[in-house]
Amino acid sequence: MHNPDFNRVQFEAVKNEAGLNRFVMTSTKWITRMRAYWRKKGVWNMEKNDRLRRKHPGEETMRAHERGGVLYFTFPLLDRVGDRFVHCFSSRLGGVSSASHLSSMNFSVSCGDTRENVQENFRRIAAAAGFDAGRIVCSAQTHTKHVRVMTEQDAGKGYDREQDYRDVDGMVTNVPGLVLATFYADCVPLYFIDPVHEAVGLSHSGWRGTVADIAGETVRTMQEAYGTRPKELLAAVGPSICQDCYEVSEDVIAQFREQYPKDVWPELFEEKENGKYQLNLWAACRRNLLGAGVLSEHIQVTDLCTCCNPGILFSHRATKGKRGNLGGFLGVRG
Ligand SMILES: [Zn+2]
Repeated sequence: MHNPDFNRVQFEAVKNEAGLNRFVMTSTKWITRMRAYWRKKGVWNMEKNDRLRRKHPGEETMRAHERGGVLYFTFPLLDRVGDRFVHCFSSRLGGVSSASHLSSMNFSVSCGDTRENVQENFRRIAAAAGFDAGRIVCSAQTHTKHVRVMTEQDAGKGYDREQDYRDVDGMVTNVPGLVLATFYADCVPLYFIDPVHEAVGLSHSGWRGTVADIAGETVRTMQEAYGTRPKELLAAVGPSICQDCYEVSEDVIAQFREQYPKDVWPELFEEKENGKYQLNLWAACRRNLLGAGVLSEHIQVTDLCTCCNPGILFSHRATKGKRGNLGGFLGVRG
């Protein structure tokens, strides 16, 4: 399916991000040019990257990949368990959604996109990362800490079948080929792999989910469902809003004070002169993982902030709510 409009919009997004305003695209070879451009600018070559703004340049906390024009990310820690599992985190690049705030790889119909566009985007990320779009199972996120065990009967729900569940922010499965899918634009994706029992978990942890400890809830659900031992889990904290970008008010911090012991507060938030706070969701999620028994050396924390990279990732804060959704995907290979 070739849509000249989305090509233009998508290219504009990258061009603006790079400040390359005089670059003229006239031919249908846009994707070749974009790839060449990405390579040259290092947008997806993270070792040499100077365009994708990273919090800790030099540390490889995430790898960028490009296939068929789709830019996506993986965690080196999770790549280590190799071909028994599949995981990725999407970017805005490589999809078919044409509205400027959705361009171009959007996974949500609730922000003004069509079902057809979203399904095509699912097919594209699936083809790029190497899994079957028809076996995707989507969350139904409402900032709860509910975790659902997904089985073969759930294949396709939220992709091309109706979801018969609500308020599901976390999912676990051990069914080969099933791919869990969760959605983001600043909130934190949490990935869990149990290589011993060949099971996975994927959870959406915004500030509410973090205070409610959906990370711990996911680990406990895997323990009950699959006999997972927390010390054998690999876990990753995915691209989301960084502390520098995330200002919150006192009422939010009051809940974090209640949930976390005083000695970790300095790690989690910083009070400012205006009475507001900068909140570190990455550190809070890491604390939750440690609290659930995951070993420190088995946790990888992203250094990609959605809000610092609004041309490449969707950010609710950076665009004042006018945005699409990124996707986090994880499954046991079929
Ligand atoms: Zn940031």
